[in-house]
Amino acid sequence: MRVVNPATGEVLREVAEADRAAVAAAFRRARAAQPAWAATPLAARCAVIRRFRALAVERAEPLARTLTLEVGKPITQARGELAGLLPRIDFFLAEVEGALADEVVLTSPADRLEERIRREPLGVVASISAWNYPWYVGANVFLPALLTGNAVLYKPSELATLTGLAIGELLHEAGVPADVFHQALVGGGNVGAMLLEEPIDAVCFTGSYATGIKVAAAVAPRLVKAQLELGGKDPAYVCDDVDAVAAAAAVADGAFYNTGQSCCAVERVYVHERVWPRFVDAFVGTARGYVVGDPLDARTYIGPLARREAALAVLEAQVADAVGHGARALVGGRRLDRPGFFFAPTVLVDVDHTMRVMREETFGPLIGLARVGSDDEAVALMNDTDYGLTAAVYTPDRARAERLLARVNTGTAYWNCCDRVSPRLPWTGRGASGLGVTLAREGIAAFVRPKAWHLRGG
Ligand code: NAD
Repeated sequence: MRVVNPATGEVLREVAEADRAAVAAAFRRARAAQPAWAATPLAARCAVIRRFRALAVERAEPLARTLTLEVGKPITQARGELAGLLPRIDFFLAEVEGALADEVVLTSPADRLEERIRREPLGVVASISAWNYPWYVGANVFLPALLTGNAVLYKPSELATLTGLAIGELLHEAGVPADVFHQALVGGGNVGAMLLEEPIDAVCFTGSYATGIKVAAAVAPRLVKAQLELGGKDPAYVCDDVDAVAAAAAVADGAFYNTGQSCCAVERVYVHERVWPRFVDAFVGTARGYVVGDPLDARTYIGPLARREAALAVLEAQVADAVGHGARALVGGRRLDRPGFFFAPTVLVDVDHTMRVMREETFGPLIGLARVGSDDEAVALMNDTDYGLTAAVYTPDRARAERLLARVNTGTAYWNCCDRVSPRLPWTGRGASGLGVTLAREGIAAFVRPKAWHLRGG
């Protein structure tokens, strides 16, 4: 398998894909190794993860560079991803003991009865990951899964293979036994599908809705627990009482950060007609000002598209469809004439919900701005989607924002912010955005199963 730099098209490295025998052997070793890992004292498992944290700090710069080279993430944003890993590690380390503690829910001396809940690991967890934030998406699974005593079979995205291999090396160097976290199972969807055929205890998948439903269907007959973190079409609503210029800069960052390739990127913007002209001017000005180019240059804000030609084709099709139905591009609208896979930051207006750009996940530097006349219209449009990951409202009026966000059917609500993830808050999608939770205490509980003990003295 070739690892390609999306900024240049050059081959960075060739790596061997796992075959069926390798996947089956990895599963057998993980199954055999997991009980001893679960029996390892929690303090020892935490110490291993602390060493992993120290290694991630020590190697941050070369790891960020690898991420930039294979995914095209601008280097300052790659450094930001490595730095953002640390609070997640700290959160899980602080919370895992409480999440695993036995809970006595009844002590009745008269009946000589005790009722107790004990949390046990799931066993062998398959982690099938995406490329857009490979450290975050990977860590949301392998950190709580390993800390709670599971073995993990990790299949990184084929577009973030080198980062996947680096994650495995760091974990092993930190002291995770080789069979407890298998050195990344390298390969594409075929390797992911093979992994699902093994008798795994759970699968944590991050990726598109189209792949997510295949994953769910593959394991459904065996009733394997499936956690699915899928795509989004996340809206932002800009109310009539905002500072339009400040809101435009914030929403543009939410739309274009990571070159628009975030699951929680702002993908649709509804702007109250009273602030429309000022907001649109400021938004377009911000988009024009972004530096597009070499992702290794620290001045670059917009890099190439990791999915290369496939991503460019989606963006071109969405622009053509929108323009064909009456939309106008105020800036951008096309791929850039240079080596690599770049698309100009693009802002469309005169868009509506008959257009693909307002309904289908875009996952690139392209956004539609629509004018609305009221809060009710904005809420109706925000909810007019199959997805339900995040939604943002911009207004100085907190009560108004909370009222509006309570009516929006998403797992995350943002007031005067967007495209933000916190280790302390559950990350969860509704509808086509997925099933299950990562992060927060719920994201640790996801990797254990309760056993109910009814204990009666003799
Ligand atoms: P993708 O669906 O193309 O691939 C995801 C993973 O699934 C890859 O590792 C791929 O090799 C594997 N895969 C493909 N076919 C498979 C099959 N039949 N069986 C098993 N595995 C298979 O997604 P992507 O392009 O890597 O990621 C982008 C998508 O991920 C976007 O939709 C984005 O919104 C979503 N995402 C969601 C979150 C979230 O937290 N909700 C986070 C990051 C990304």
